[in-house]
Amino acid sequence: MFKKILIANRGEIAVRIIRACKEMDIATVAIYSTGDKEALHVQLADEAICVGSARATESYLNMENILSAAAVTGAQAIHPGYGFLSENPKFARLVKECGLVFIGPDADVIEEMGNKSRARQVTLAAGVPVVPGSEGNLATVEEALKVADDIGYPVLIKATSGGGGKGMRVVENKEDFADLFHMAKTEARANFGDDSVYLEKYVANPKHIEFQLMGDSHGNYVHLFERDCSVQRNHQKMIEEAPCRGLSEKTRNAMAEEVIKLARATKYNNAGTLEFIVDKDENYYFIEMNTRIQVEHPVTEMVTGIDLIKEQIKVAAGAKLSFTQEDVKVNGYAMECRVNAEDPMNQFRPSTGKINQLILPGGFGVRVDTMIYPNYSISPFYDSMILKLIVHGKTRLDTIKKMRRALEELIIDGVTTNNEFHYYILHHVDFVKGDFDTSFVGKFLEELAEEGEVNA
Ligand code: ADP
Repeated sequence: MFKKILIANRGEIAVRIIRACKEMDIATVAIYSTGDKEALHVQLADEAICVGSARATESYLNMENILSAAAVTGAQAIHPGYGFLSENPKFARLVKECGLVFIGPDADVIEEMGNKSRARQVTLAAGVPVVPGSEGNLATVEEALKVADDIGYPVLIKATSGGGGKGMRVVENKEDFADLFHMAKTEARANFGDDSVYLEKYVANPKHIEFQLMGDSHGNYVHLFERDCSVQRNHQKMIEEAPCRGLSEKTRNAMAEEVIKLARATKYNNAGTLEFIVDKDENYYFIEMNTRIQVEHPVTEMVTGIDLIKEQIKVAAGAKLSFTQEDVKVNGYAMECRVNAEDPMNQFRPSTGKINQLILPGGFGVRVDTMIYPNYSISPFYDSMILKLIVHGKTRLDTIKKMRRALEELIIDGVTTNNEFHYYILHHVDFVKGDFDTSFVGKFLEELAEEGEVNA
């Protein structure tokens, strides 16, 4: 097993990984930017090295500095967390070339599956259904218009390197196409340094259902069932749960089989997630694969009792998966609310500042993954997600009641957060019934705006 791991990330996920390492008797190296000197991950790690200024491109995306930090501290492996360099094949390759282990799948697999339009082709070839769409990237608006006509409106323009819902545009009719095509390209270039886009049929009001996958380097592939991530705003997840209420056993099993099929086809050797959209008739379509640990992984950990980060580390060190498919059992329900420093009353504008009072919920079945503490200042440089509240209950209603109680206890004074908005959702009749899809939050916000409860 590794003696020392460098964590190439910040925030709650860096803290989460450090915790797993400590329990495995592995020493940890944190990296940080000048804006993160006071960060919790810096305090919790055994060693910490500053890798650059607050801007992520200078620090958390600075490959050379991160690799130098690993070299001078004698780390044997690098855990990339999520975001930043986690799905960058060049980084994964450099880590290997430096004689270190990248805790994730092989660089070739990241390259193949991290690029969305290429992943579509690999998935199709493996015989897994994908949303009808273009065969590859579309360079010109003329070419794209032709494909859109073939697919039929509405269509969705998507950035090949996209993430976090950015670089996506729904086009309802031909007249709007050219403008939205250029907008999507501009947004993609600005956010991902790559303006390639492709087209998909826009599926009306689907559910977002994803499967957790784990593979090792010995040809073992196991899925850990699904998460329902349909509670989204602007294509960004807000609440995730497992299992997905109402999904038939037949569809669940069929989807699970597809996941294993794709894992085999790509020789997938670490943690990954296959994302699908599912329509009312339970037709499912692959949309993308995330070749890394996801924000919402705790939901799966709670229902399966399997520590995904520890498993990632063991598998990267060459071990076989410590469990088989038969060992994976779903116990009860789990739910996660992403608490963001933002103002739901005013278009979810980011909120920054110093945390004054902080009261964290606890009790049976409540887990809090966060990096905030009293007097910690929330930086404008990074993601607004500051805390994940995860609960585990026997039934879905039990879990909802536990989440409501936990949200009531949670007090974060100093910045505005979306926790009250979560509380409203947890009381919404459609949410409680499990009768929701990806259009749920948008519709709810429209209702609230009509009643003057929020500024649209
Ligand atoms: P990102 O990587 O930016 O998160 P995804 O491809 O995962 O982008 O899509 C994000 C969300 O957008 C999905 O969860 C779903 O709600 C919606 N979406 C994606 N593709 C489609 C589609 N073809 N039709 C309808 N909704 C879609």
